[in-house]
Amino acid sequence: MDVLLAKETVVRAGRELVKEGLIQRTWGNVSCRISDSEFVITPSGRDYLSLTPDDIVTVRIDDLSYEGDIKPSSEKGIHAMCYQLRDDVNFVIHTHQTYASIQGLSGLDINGIEGESAAILGDNVPLASYGLPGTKKLRNGVVNAILRSDSKAALMLHHGALCMGADYDDAFRVANELEKVCRERVFARFTEVSGKTAESFRSISDYIAERLTTRTSATELTPYESVRAFGVLEMTNAESGETLCIDLGSGLPVDPEMELPDTAVLHAEIYKARNDVNAIIHSKDEATLSLSRMGKTIRPFLDDFAQIVGFTMKNAVYDPDNALKTSKKVIKKLKHRDAVLLDHNGALCVGSDREEAEAVRLVAEKGAKAFVAADLYGRGKSYINTVESVLMRVIYKAKYSKKK
Ligand code: 13P
Ligand code: ZN
Repeated sequence: MDVLLAKETVVRAGRELVKEGLIQRTWGNVSCRISDSEFVITPSGRDYLSLTPDDIVTVRIDDLSYEGDIKPSSEKGIHAMCYQLRDDVNFVIHTHQTYASIQGLSGLDINGIEGESAAILGDNVPLASYGLPGTKKLRNGVVNAILRSDSKAALMLHHGALCMGADYDDAFRVANELEKVCRERVFARFTEVSGKTAESFRSISDYIAERLTTRTSATELTPYESVRAFGVLEMTNAESGETLCIDLGSGLPVDPEMELPDTAVLHAEIYKARNDVNAIIHSKDEATLSLSRMGKTIRPFLDDFAQIVGFTMKNAVYDPDNALKTSKKVIKKLKHRDAVLLDHNGALCVGSDREEAEAVRLVAEKGAKAFVAADLYGRGKSYINTVESVLMRVIYKAKYSKKK
């Protein structure tokens, strides 16, 4: 295949994966075979939306050596093995797609796939054993999975998925079908465990949260997003879209006619305590909302959660009637972390800018679903161990996050 065309196709795939929500932030990677001995692949840790064909790296299949100064994806070894082991594969996507990631927490291969789905995926999808991102251990786990199945997909335990295709369209078809099948499996497992059918994931997360909690209600907070710029805090009501500006020094609205939202003090105190934070997003999605009722600390079941949220997501009570004191408690639980569950009110996600806070939100919501799925499969204690979680968080903060 023509090298430039291959590189352009890889760039296009990166954008499509972001758009379809099959990856978050700079995670995942995409490659295309250009000959029997080489493939082109996305660079490591770079923002998909700013990539051009010049950023895509040519890598040799046999020894992983590469052309130029740009560092190729840390998972290039996995892509190379796909091309080595499967002659008919010319396009490979490693995704962090939600349902495939959480279905993997069952700890089992997916068996008994039927009909149209089987025509696309094969009648089973193997689960690769765990290894830290970018390691030989992870690559070996994936190789073993590929070798014991003829599926075009593999789940990666605590991590994501691998989707192989004859070309771009084929690989995307695999990724989308895998997501559909995994969603069905999670919902079917819920029915098996509870005897009920779920309309949405909310029914599942509520079911698990209720089983694990004895706690009652708390003040309901309206979710606000905010950004800090030049000593002013701009807060936007996530439901109505209304905005107001608050002077960070005085804590008062710039327009004295405006009323302060319930969470104004909390947002302002977070900015004062954390110089690294310039944006806050309040997630009230189905899973974070359910889990915030439990009063429990959420452990990482997926690598990207350990990396961007932190080695745990704690629960903190914020009471607008005792705003300053309870804000300090929330900030304490946010230390060394970028998200915290607000008791009965979802999760607060922080970042150096809006885009980073949004990435934290997406991964926190997926991580909350992962907690629910792990429990649903009777594997609620199978979270990633603390040493590895801390290691991933430190590497992410010090190195990986800065490449973007
Ligand atoms: P790269 O940015 O190095 O491709 O890594 C992303 C990833 O998903 C690792 O598993
Ligand atoms: Zn990955």
